[in-house]
Formats: sequence, C-alpha cells, structure tokens
Amino acid sequence: TTHLVWFRNDLRITDNRALHAACEDPQARVIALFIATPEQWKQHEMAPRQAMFIYQHLQALQHSLAERGIGLHYHQCDDFADSVDWLKDFCKSEKVDALFYNKQYEFNERQRDAAVEKAVSESVICHAFDDSLLLPPGSVTTGNNEMYKVYTPFRRAFLSRLTESDSRSLPAPQVRGNAGKVVMHRLMPFDYPLADIGDDFAIGEEAARHQLRSFCREQVQDYLEQRDLPAVDGTSSLSPYLAIGVLSPRQCLNRLRTECPDVLEKTDGGAFGWLNELVWREFYRHLIVAWPKLCKHQPFVEWTDNVRWRHAPEELQAWKDGKTGYPIVDAAMRQLNSTGWMHNRLRMIVASFLVKDLLINWREGERYFMSQLLDGDLAANNGGWQWGASTGTDAAPYFRIFNPTTQGERFDKAGRFIKAWVPELADVPERDIHQPHRWAEKQHRVLDYPLPVIDHARARKDTLAAFEAAKNRS
Ligand code: FAD
Repeated sequence: TTHLVWFRNDLRITDNRALHAACEDPQARVIALFIATPEQWKQHEMAPRQAMFIYQHLQALQHSLAERGIGLHYHQCDDFADSVDWLKDFCKSEKVDALFYNKQYEFNERQRDAAVEKAVSESVICHAFDDSLLLPPGSVTTGNNEMYKVYTPFRRAFLSRLTESDSRSLPAPQVRGNAGKVVMHRLMPFDYPLADIGDDFAIGEEAARHQLRSFCREQVQDYLEQRDLPAVDGTSSLSPYLAIGVLSPRQCLNRLRTECPDVLEKTDGGAFGWLNELVWREFYRHLIVAWPKLCKHQPFVEWTDNVRWRHAPEELQAWKDGKTGYPIVDAAMRQLNSTGWMHNRLRMIVASFLVKDLLINWREGERYFMSQLLDGDLAANNGGWQWGASTGTDAAPYFRIFNPTTQGERFDKAGRFIKAWVPELADVPERDIHQPHRWAEKQHRVLDYPLPVIDHARARKDTLAAFEAAKNRS
C-alpha cells in the first residue's frame, strides 16, 4: 500500500498527526507532497518574507523526511483549483491508496479539500486530522451548541475541555526500511517574490523548539510584566513558526506544562498569561469556521459596513511608511517593514490609528499586514483587525479609541523602542520623545521628521460621529 502525506501548513515531522498516522503501518510505502500555489498566495496577499520562510522550511522538511526514508515530492500549480486536478492525477500515477492531511480552517482551503476528497474518492481513502489547534473547531460551544461570540466565556469552556482532552505530542516517525535510498531533488524556488528574512528567526523545527524551551524556562514567569513593552524582548516570538506549522500548539502547551506544572491553577501567573494568548489563537480559528464570512472580507457586526471610510491614499501611504508624525506608530510600522514582525501592543496601536484616527477602512490595514508579516495568519490577523476596528466579535466598543501619544508614554516611556526605529528623533530628550515637535519648537530646531498627519482630538470626534451615523443608518 502507498500512503501519501500532503503537507500544507504543518511543515514539521514532530507531533504531526497526519504524518504519524501515515507511518503507523511499517509495511506501507510512505511518500510526501507539497504543492505551491503562487496565484492563490497572491490573492491572499502572502508576504514575500513568509513565502521565503516556507521555502526554507520546506528544504529542511525534505531533509528530515529523507533521513526517515520518506521522499518529498514538490509541485507548483497556479491556484487551488489547479491543485485539485493535479493531485488526482498524481494519486493515480503513484498508485496512492490513502491520503493523509491536516485540516486547514480557512474557507478557500476547506473548499479545496472537499473538492480533493471528491475527486479521488473512487480509489483513495482520505484521512483528515485536526492538528493545528489544541481543540477542534466546533468542540467548544455554549449550552445551545453555538460558538461563543465573546472571548472570556470561550476561554472558561475551552480550559475545562482541555483538561479532559488528549493533547499529548506525538514523536517524529521512525526511520523506515528504505532510508538512505531516497533521492533528494532540488526544490525549485517558488514562482513568487521571495524576500530576505534576516537572522531573527532561525530555520528548522529544532530551532523553534529550542526557542520555545528557553522562553518557557527563562522568560514566561515575567510575561505579564513584560508582554506590553515593545522595547523588551518579553514575548516568545514564536508566531512565525506557529503560523506555518513548524511548531504545534500541543508542543507549546506541553513544554509550558513541563516547565510550569501549576500553569492551570496559578491563574495570575505569567505562564497562565501566555497560555491565554494561545487560547486567543484558538478562539479566532474557531470563529472563522463558525462564521466563514470572516474569511470573505466581511465584518462580524454588519452595521459597521455603513461607516463612511475616508479615501485618503496619502495618509494611508504615510501609515505604511511609518511617517505619520506619531513616533510610536512610526516606529512600529518601520519594525514591521524591516523585519516582518511587530509586537502585539503595537499591532493594536497602529490598527487603532489607521481605523480610528485616519478613519481608513480596516481591510486596507489587514491587507497591508498580510503583505508584510512573517507570521501572517488569516484568522489571527482578521481577528486582530476586527477587534481594533470594533467590527468583530468581542470587539472593543467603537467609542474606545487609543490615544497614540499616551499609548507611547505608557508602553515606551523612555522612548527606547522609538529611538531604535526612528533615528530622526535621536536627539530628542526622553521626556519629549512622544511629542517631538513641541520640543523642537521650544528649541528653535527643525526636525527631519513629519508633522502629525492628523490631529488626534479632532480625528477622535470625527470617528465617533462616523460610527454613530453608521449605526443610526442600520
Ligand atoms: P506571544 O505573546 O509569545 O504569544 C504566543 C502565541 O500566541 C503567538 O505566537 C501567537 O501564535 C498566539 N497569539 C498571541 N496573541 C494572539 C492574538 N491576539 N491573537 C491570536 N493569536 C495570538 N498573530 C499572528 O500569528 N498572525 C497574524 O497575522 C496576526 N495579526 C495581528 C493583527 C493585529 C491587528 C493584531 C492586534 C494582532 C495580530 N496577531 C497576529 C496577534 C499577535 O499580535 C501576534 O500573534 C503576536 O504579537 C506574536 O508574537 P509572539 O509570538 O511573541 O506572541
């Protein structure tokens, strides 16, 4: 018998449910496959950095699979529709008896998988696994069997289900009989823009696991005090690995439990605080399955589509370039543009600024983030943007608007983060760093730094009025 493992967003050999199941029969011939779909990626705005991260992890995966006697086949199609036809032919030519894959939960991906199962149904048995979440979508519901719309009760129900569930990590498959005979063909780079990812994120699942281990050993205790300070390296920086499945959430949970056995009892501790973030990740993924419209550019709260967004291309560009004249916003956007990663507090600040100060459609921000992020993930990104824009489930009410100056003062008091990313402000003293032009005026100096693109107090009033009017029109 031939077992085919189709890798998608699960680029690892350890704790991979589909791979593990495919390898259970020691007699089976196991082959692996990855299909690149550049046209689809373009439609989904995948960042060239993330494409490179995938490509490099694919090379690492090819290596570790080969060491275990599993050859990785690689093919490039335009989009998901093409991949269905191609996969059908591939299964025929390789005489595949069973197809193993881990589920993806986005709408287009689910449509594709349904089409594949149908296309190969005559000759291939399909085994699909819930692998990228601690608990599968649909398994954490209210008394009425509905998905929660608010996070806190979701978390409560989630944690009580989690303690009953089996979340053990699975080992990497054993070396198979034909190890050493696998021919490794060079993987051609994707026909997609690929960008340098720098040195911040090492390649390989071992590197990711090492980072997880040292974070849980050395840093997680201080997570609550440090997680909101962008100048401090206080969060795990594991999101790029989780987004493409180099690391599984079970590995995160189990490592956390090993290092902090009382994580679930000590609910005011850093370990619980970090687990809480993993549960947010689950929440957003469960949401996109319960409400597929979230994958289709629609807001959760329908009336928010009546907001008359401003068409302000120059201000949008200033936001993208980190030239809004608000130091914390600009430092954050420059961090994103040059590294592909942005601190969570800053994601919230820049999202609020785009939507609530510039009154620009949140979809512009969502799209731009995807085009830059190394950890781009539809569910988390959409969830974050709809939260910031007050258009989603569990959204901050629309009248809660961040003040970008006071946010900077609170979370980057001495301006250490700002100075690292906005060199034009190097001479500005600490106490003036959040309002540099006020200082420059007093000093009779001219800064080579833009004036604020908008006045926050006025923008706040305009936004409140625009949301109020939209609500009244509904
Ligand atoms: P840690 O604080 O160490 O958290 C551990 C893990 O939990 C993260 O790696 C991530 O997988 C998950 N996580 C943490 N916070 C959240 C959250 N609020 N929502 C969902 N999952 C979370 N995260 C992405 O992975 N991809 C995105 O595309 C993305 N876009 C975002 C857009 C906006 C506007 C906002 C406000 C948040 C977004 N986030 C996104 C969530 C969060 O900002 C990042 O996951 C986090 O900053 C990653 O850093 P870390 O790995 O050090 O996180």
